[in-house]
Amino acid sequence: MNSLTLTLKPRWENGTVADMTVFASLPAALIPRGPEKPSPQYPALAYGGRCPFAEYEIISLSDENGGIRYHLDDIPCFYDSADCKGIFFERPAAGTLRWITRLFPRILPKGYQSSPYFDFRAEPLGLNGCGLFAFLLPDTGDTPLSVHFDWDLSEMPRGARGIWSYGEGAVDIVLTSWQVRMTLFNTGIIHSNERGGLGVYWFSDPPVDIDAIAGRLYPIFQYMKDYFHDTESCFRVFLRRDPFERSGGGSACPYSFISGYSAFGGIDEESWFNVLIHEMTHTWPSMEDSEDDDTAWFSEGCTEFYSTLLPYRGGFLDADVTARAINEKITGCYLNNPYRLTPNRQLPKIQWQDIRAQKIPYGRGFLYLANVDVRLRRLNRGSIDDFVSRCSILKPASQEEWIRFVRDRLGESGIREFQDMAEGKLIVPEEGLFGADILTVQDEITLDGKRAVSWHWEARKNRP
Ligand SMILES: [Zn+2]
Repeated sequence: MNSLTLTLKPRWENGTVADMTVFASLPAALIPRGPEKPSPQYPALAYGGRCPFAEYEIISLSDENGGIRYHLDDIPCFYDSADCKGIFFERPAAGTLRWITRLFPRILPKGYQSSPYFDFRAEPLGLNGCGLFAFLLPDTGDTPLSVHFDWDLSEMPRGARGIWSYGEGAVDIVLTSWQVRMTLFNTGIIHSNERGGLGVYWFSDPPVDIDAIAGRLYPIFQYMKDYFHDTESCFRVFLRRDPFERSGGGSACPYSFISGYSAFGGIDEESWFNVLIHEMTHTWPSMEDSEDDDTAWFSEGCTEFYSTLLPYRGGFLDADVTARAINEKITGCYLNNPYRLTPNRQLPKIQWQDIRAQKIPYGRGFLYLANVDVRLRRLNRGSIDDFVSRCSILKPASQEEWIRFVRDRLGESGIREFQDMAEGKLIVPEEGLFGADILTVQDEITLDGKRAVSWHWEARKNRP
């Protein structure tokens, strides 16, 4: 059995988690062989230097023959242009490999403002982090591992809890090593709002009424998981208190999301609610990265499509609110964006220099997919649901599958439309794109000093 065990043992001191020891084991046969192959590996520093791996020490590393000597070295980057490091064994491992590491919460640099939320961080009453920046793990490729994940809370106060992306306490689940990295965990004295597979978790008092927001989110979550025939799925939201003023962002892993709020207060409840719906929706429409092309048009665009339209179709949000969201997402992010004619494959190169380029795939993908959907429905050839229901964040589709899908359903015109979108040709909205109650209105705008055509959407007035 290909089993990976992970036990997390946080240690309480002065009202929070002072450090956390991780006990791990894996059959040595699964570890990549050869002197050039690292065993456990990790991203030491990612996202342009903003997110470091936790400070750690290796307490022991052994197999059936005893301790293994090792050295640490740089390895080729395996994640998001990060500086990556690998642990190289000085002899092959045999039997079961066991390694124990102790992690220390991050001390934020002076004047720190915000970050991707995957760093290993403590706050009063607890700690949270992401496997990617906390677990030393070998890369076992696509091999499914039966993972046994557990907590040892013996050095925590009474009432302390340990919660992972896939459940609370002991969890058994089959995942790849990459999927184990892409998980979130939370431990300490935790407040929670949990209902029907949706859980929100926090430590101190956030400046918003979490129970009210969770109450609004819950029926949308139910509706979505039924819609995607994924009734067993769960979604967990971990909240973190940032000790600086600019906060409110978040980072997603499969089936879970971590979001920050400022200890100094101030959070826009409505926009935070929309972020939560967006992140929750990521559980379903998903496309793997392609070597030649950027697939954010689908992963982000399709998430925008469903996170905007399902709450509307399900009757949770009205036409006014929905039209405003469409204007923000399609008009704002794409149609009125100076990068609207930039091909998909060029966007990743410029998106770190200009945030506006990063927004393009969200709106472009949304509008393209809405066009395809309305055409399929008009021709009685199904809808994009037929494609999306085959994938999830753990089983992402490929771009080739999408191309096959549009060829099967729409023929050569479907392929052409896809290529035009990828090449950055302006997408013209189909008539009646969002149903009878949301009208498409054409505008003339100035873009880069030139006159250009654009569109926005309005709720029909005098609706019955
Ligand atoms: Zn997203």
